[in-house]
Amino acid sequence: MSKFLKKAYPLLEGTVDLLGIDKNHLRKKMIDMSNKKTRSKQFHLKPNEILVLLPHCLQLQSCDIRITTNIYNCKRCKKCDIAEIVAVCEKYGVSVVVATGGTLARRAIVDIRPKGIIAVACERDLTSGIVDVGEMDVIGILNDRPNGPCIDTKVDIKKLEEAILFYLGGD
Ligand code: SF4
Repeated sequence: MSKFLKKAYPLLEGTVDLLGIDKNHLRKKMIDMSNKKTRSKQFHLKPNEILVLLPHCLQLQSCDIRITTNIYNCKRCKKCDIAEIVAVCEKYGVSVVVATGGTLARRAIVDIRPKGIIAVACERDLTSGIVDVGEMDVIGILNDRPNGPCIDTKVDIKKLEEAILFYLGGD
């Protein structure tokens, strides 16, 4: 994503809003462009150079286990996708953090200093995250929202695993 587009993006979104056009349409285009830019490069990262950032809404709403401080607190009951996400991240040894907002996501990036980020979120949060991280390499994966926004959302685990393998330089 060019620096210019990243700076111009908030203005673009404001214009689209004024015109009454669905903002998610623009957001999907932005995510697509950012993903294509990342995927145009070749990576051979070490597992500890990869960070998976997740939204809290992937956790089952009725589960009271605190996974925001440490996702490995998950008891892996498989009632939500967190269990499988933890298993995949553990399998490849990559870092994984549940970020309840932009500030926590930024903190995780400062702490872990990844060379490749995989971010799972809705259109709005993914685009603001992509703008936020500037020139860093991000693969954005949209979450599925069968229960509406922000409630018991889901993610395609195959897409997550494929993104990890892409950064590792595997198949
Ligand atoms: S898999 Fe089970 S224990 Fe883990 S976060 Fe989901 S509901 Fe909670």
